[in-house]
Amino acid sequence: MERTFVILKPCTVQRGLIGEIINRFEKKGLILAGMKMAWLTDEILSEHYAHLKDKPFFQRVKDSMRTSPVVVCCWEGVEAVEVVRSMTGSTNGRKALPGTIRGDYSMSMQENIVHTSDSLETAAVELKRFFNEAELYTYNPVRWSNLYANDEI
Ligand code: ADP
Repeated sequence: MERTFVILKPCTVQRGLIGEIINRFEKKGLILAGMKMAWLTDEILSEHYAHLKDKPFFQRVKDSMRTSPVVVCCWEGVEAVEVVRSMTGSTNGRKALPGTIRGDYSMSMQENIVHTSDSLETAAVELKRFFNEAELYTYNPVRWSNLYANDEI
């Protein structure tokens, strides 16, 4: 079963939207494998956003991610990375399609509610960066058979 990594950003925590966003992933049928609050450091954010290090907004994005604790979580399901990424919507909240998380809750390029892994490889690296192995749980939700056909899992 595939696992992906999600951060509920400070804007989400501050706006009281944690429950609504978690609810979307749960309703979709993704299984929560791990979740915790964390106050991120500049060091871990420099790693996490290393692909943006030459952008003029690099420090601003990192600072914004440290204005409050965030919620980090791991969601599990068939093709979970792609499913969560398509639920996320495009980076700019003003351009993201209605029905996506960013499209429904964000007016901003930066304050865009969630980080979600963009590939299976990235998800593995990010999960390792933010979680210990003991913090990720494997269990059998009773509803597997309501979520998938036998040949899908
Ligand atoms: P995504 O989060 O959609 O995968 P990126 O990895 O390109 O997008 O960027 C990481 C985060 O950096 C974005 O979610 C957003 O918060 C911020 N960001 C990206 N581009 C800009 C920009 N031009 N101005 C301000 N913030 C930006």
